[in-house]
Amino acid sequence: MKDKKKKKGNLIMKIIFSSSILTTALFMVIIIACLMVLDFFGANITDGYVEGNMEYAEKYRSVLNKYLKNGYGYVSLERVLYFYLVDDSLTFDEIYKDNLDSDSKKMLPISSVCELEKYKYYSVCKDMSGQIDEDQNKPFSPPIDFSKISITSFFMEERIVFGNYDYHGGWDLATSNQTPVLATCDGEIKKVSFPFKQNVTDTSGGGGNQIVLSCIVDDLDYRVTYAHLYPGSAKVKTGDKVTAGQQLAGVVTTGYSTGPHLHYQVNLNGNKVDGMSLVDFTNVKPGFQPLTPGGPGTLPTNPYNNGRLIRP
Ligand SMILES: [Zn+2]
Repeated sequence: MKDKKKKKGNLIMKIIFSSSILTTALFMVIIIACLMVLDFFGANITDGYVEGNMEYAEKYRSVLNKYLKNGYGYVSLERVLYFYLVDDSLTFDEIYKDNLDSDSKKMLPISSVCELEKYKYYSVCKDMSGQIDEDQNKPFSPPIDFSKISITSFFMEERIVFGNYDYHGGWDLATSNQTPVLATCDGEIKKVSFPFKQNVTDTSGGGGNQIVLSCIVDDLDYRVTYAHLYPGSAKVKTGDKVTAGQQLAGVVTTGYSTGPHLHYQVNLNGNKVDGMSLVDFTNVKPGFQPLTPGGPGTLPTNPYNNGRLIRP
């Protein structure tokens, strides 16, 4: 009887023991499957904005400001993270540079970056299935002189507004009062709204004084919004035809804003799209030069210390 009990005990121990192996195995299978689904190192990270990008925002803004201010092109945060998340010993700076074509200043297709010797053996370069590898579209001329601005908030940056998480639908380009904002295309003015007669910040004022421009490119109607404009600075009216580079108004801080900046936003078919990826930097001065310590690549002073405008 005693023996039987002991045997039964052993059997129970065996079941428990083997089930814990089973549980561990099952757990591992689930974890691996999850990682595969998430594609841990971000095979599809360039499909959209990066969720929870707050921890990278400041670092990315520094690099972005350095390059844009000095006439280089634009590389998205998604692209920088695509490589950085595989190897965080790389700097944002070097990844940014590696992803730019020095002549066209366009963000390179991922496959071209992967051809660089140092990226050849990267896991993200070995399997690019499902990855977007198109050339960057760039039909727009700059909405402002980039050498005069500091980016304080980028497209789809996650921010906290009134205690709630919010994704920024455009680009905040901080600069001094009355800096001209420019037509991004040969297009037509769809809206000129200047209810603010004085340069006042108003938390219920949204985008303040605004202009909306329609840019038709390849039969697509991009709507470009310029917000927080200087009272009385509109040089166009609704229905006007404008040419790329023409001044539309000046920058200030009307509406819900904490300092003079242009909120530059592009909508396509009602969806917000990344307006910076549409800009042609080819002829933007002072031109593409290698970065040297203390040279043209040094960081600009951010007008807001921490550089984060709250909204919009
Ligand atoms: Zn904004």
